[in-house]
Amino acid sequence: MPYPKLEMLIAGEWTNGSSGKSEPVICPADGTTIGTLPHASTADLDAALQSSLDGFNVWRKKTPHERQTVLEQAARLLEDRFDDISANLTREMGKPVGEAKIELRVAIDLLRWYAEEGKRVYGRIIPSRFPNMQHEVRKQPVGPVVAFVAWNFPATNVMRKVAGALAAGCSITIKPSEETPATAIAIGKALTDAGLPAGVLNIVFGVPPEVSEHLLASPIPRKLSFTGSVPVGIHLQQLAAKNMIRCTMELGGHSPVMVFEDCDLELAAKMCAAGKFRNAGQVCISPTRFFVQDSIHDKFLTLFQQQVEAVQVGNGLEENVNMGPLVAERRIEIMDGFVSDAVSQGAELVTGGARLQNAGSFFAPTLLKDVPETARIMTEEPFGPVAPTTRFSSLDEVIERANSLPFGLAAYAFTSNAGTAGILKQEIETGMLAVNSLHVHSVETPFGGLKASGYGHEGGIEGLEAYLAARYSSEIYA
Ligand code: NAD
Repeated sequence: MPYPKLEMLIAGEWTNGSSGKSEPVICPADGTTIGTLPHASTADLDAALQSSLDGFNVWRKKTPHERQTVLEQAARLLEDRFDDISANLTREMGKPVGEAKIELRVAIDLLRWYAEEGKRVYGRIIPSRFPNMQHEVRKQPVGPVVAFVAWNFPATNVMRKVAGALAAGCSITIKPSEETPATAIAIGKALTDAGLPAGVLNIVFGVPPEVSEHLLASPIPRKLSFTGSVPVGIHLQQLAAKNMIRCTMELGGHSPVMVFEDCDLELAAKMCAAGKFRNAGQVCISPTRFFVQDSIHDKFLTLFQQQVEAVQVGNGLEENVNMGPLVAERRIEIMDGFVSDAVSQGAELVTGGARLQNAGSFFAPTLLKDVPETARIMTEEPFGPVAPTTRFSSLDEVIERANSLPFGLAAYAFTSNAGTAGILKQEIETGMLAVNSLHVHSVETPFGGLKASGYGHEGGIEGLEAYLAARYSSEIYA
């Protein structure tokens, strides 16, 4: 099936906009141009903003049951179009189509879960200290939302924001990544085909800083939700501050994995490799600093190396491939830089370490041993298929080293000691921690970081709360 025509959704119309500008969409597996993406003009952005205000005033007045009916129909349409959407997700982003299908399944689950949870937005009555008085708190949609998201999960990054906002009764204007537009458009088409009123969802594309500066300078948005890197998150938060727009910031991470001597080493090696090379390491919660306890270090490294070397790299549309290309050519140079810097500082390159010579932006699954803490890859988010490992001796030491970076998104530990697990849950400074697995997200659990990794959540009731404002009223009833 062909890669779809790329359009924007503005005020209920699918359109090329009025800027006359566009950019190519490149398939990372072979470097070919697969689509042409139109850019919004400032007039288009203004139209999107005005329609998001008009759409908000329609959508907020619908009952949660009416909203759920539309969102459920969109979920069904996404299921009907499942194979085409997931194949195009792989074409534009590179991940193996099996991973694309899992991602799309999660995106549909998110839509259904939020739509149902929107029916359970409860307020509360607070006993008054004065006679015959009642305090009432109700949760209401916060207003029109503006969102920007990264390319690494073209379906779930978009859906986490769109489903949460719509289920809460907000309208939303989203700028998905220009590198992965077809998946976002497919989500938009399912929603408009399901009967979402005009203006409730707008999808725009353009030069990212220009789009965000224009949208956030408007008094219309009441909420900003961003998924991307820390520097861009800080910049957008500054723009939002001028109009007192509240923010959710889902930013980068640098997740420690602590492999203790009392764990199941084979299981840990298998899970670490599966987690590390999922989406070619281009995952905000990807395990990125492997701390291995001295006594089992060599044994674990041997098992880990076997797993790393078993990863099958290739075009994600082909069978038996479990790692695709990096999202774009620019990421290859970044990986080369991390590897050569680590090696120049004394790390040992165990396997991989270079681009693979077929067409497309492929980089070999890479394992580095005894990486010094001064190597750039130990402090900067790698966002690629490179696993740096180091040794530790005690629990206190590994906690201190794991917590030493400004990031605080996810952390992982492998241990059979309940006491160790309990201490880690208390002491590790991240929004999410998994013990004996790398599983830190489900649609019904809160996903979000601490420290420089941002604040606020997506998923779980916290994800819905992000789009709600508490409104208080009092009444003397007698
Ligand atoms: P990036 O911040 O450069 O870009 C992310 C997205 O924001 C892209 O779509 C980009 O077009 C857009 N963008 C960039 N500058 C912008 C601006 N000034 N205004 C509006 N939009 C702008 O990040 P990247 O390197 O492309 O993506 C990877 C980063 O995203 C990593 O740091 C990763 O950890 C993070 N991420 C975080 C989460 C999370 O939930 N915490 C999830 C996925 C990715």
